[in-house]
Amino acid sequence: MDATATDTLPADLKPFVCDSCDAWNAARAPFKLFGDSHYVGPEGLSVVAIDTGAGVVLIDGGLPQSVDGIIAGLKSIGRDVRDVKYIAVSHPHYDHAGGVAALSRLSGATVLSTAAGADALTRGNVPKDDPQAGYGDFMKFPPVANVRALADGETITLGDTTLTAHATPGHTPGGASWSWNDCEGDHCIDLVFADSLNPVSHDDFHFGDDPQRVATFRASIAKVRALSCDLLVSAHPSQSELFERQARDELIHADTCRDYADAAAQRLDERLASERTSTTAE
Ligand SMILES: [Zn+2]
Repeated sequence: MDATATDTLPADLKPFVCDSCDAWNAARAPFKLFGDSHYVGPEGLSVVAIDTGAGVVLIDGGLPQSVDGIIAGLKSIGRDVRDVKYIAVSHPHYDHAGGVAALSRLSGATVLSTAAGADALTRGNVPKDDPQAGYGDFMKFPPVANVRALADGETITLGDTTLTAHATPGHTPGGASWSWNDCEGDHCIDLVFADSLNPVSHDDFHFGDDPQRVATFRASIAKVRALSCDLLVSAHPSQSELFERQARDELIHADTCRDYADAAAQRLDERLASERTSTTAE
């Protein structure tokens, strides 16, 4: 897209610029996960469309520049962006929530998040206690109207689908994972869209400074590990080898949520250990 083309775009569709953005937003052919649940996101940012029979539930919205591809993905399953009734958000960072403002504006959909997530989405910025808040204005994204906060364990039902919110704070204070059931004939499975569980932060931030925060993070990891989970989609597909599993025809696998959580627990332990080492060295 050239400069003159982006100048005329609405503010909520202006492409976000970051080191990984082009790689994340590379086109990916939409594919069926199971039943009426489809992957419609780009290469590096998961977006799921659930066709409930009474409208579509989207999970996540990628970057602002991901919106066109998501709408094309909806078309590939015979749906229009105006069929989207709900957009559930994993966590309020620009790479998962950057496209949500435009998708909500174009569809009229209600956006779903946790209370802390709803606050960040409405402001279009991360809270001060976000581990990446130190990046300042870089963390801003288009503010989202029409956000509804769900409590941990609360559900919404649309058509034949009931979506459950699981608060999973840690990577961000407002993060959520989402679960639902989908069927092909008599064969029904539990699907999970798992939030990022990565302990990444700005250099000035130490997870270990706040034992309560570490305990909260560990509880989120344990929560994802314990979910009934036949098919996992992680917020970044690479973090659970989604496309590799698809290529092997092993999207349905009993261990993926457990493995995803165990890897996150290990990364958190490593992060805390490295924080202790660097503190001692100072
Ligand atoms: Zn993030």
